[in-house]
Amino acid sequence: MTLPLNAEMLAAAYEYLRTTPPFNKWNLPDHEDIKFRTSRRPREAGRYEWDGDHHIVASIHGIAYTESLMRFMSHEMVHLHLQIMGWESKARSEEVHNAAFRKFSALVCKHHGFDPKAFY
Ligand SMILES: [Zn+2]
Repeated sequence: MTLPLNAEMLAAAYEYLRTTPPFNKWNLPDHEDIKFRTSRRPREAGRYEWDGDHHIVASIHGIAYTESLMRFMSHEMVHLHLQIMGWESKARSEEVHNAAFRKFSALVCKHHGFDPKAFY
């Protein structure tokens, strides 16, 4: 049995993380301003997308348990932060983890005990 992932869980995970460092210093939007949904894509945990709205999409095939949900959501929240600050890489042909991403990721991993080598 695994976690029956749904949009409400994604929003709740996001809101929990938003109360914790370093996210609580980033002035991130309320969960109501983000579109959360699940997908069935096989080869990814999920993704953050910006098309005028913020989207956080989690794959039910890539996330089975709370631990990976928290790591996934934290990862996408770094992308969200970079997008809002204008620091996200512009070339989106493939997902890019630039120097800013690595810097904020290191901070997230330090506070939350995520393995930085498994954060990508
Ligand atoms: Zn990423």
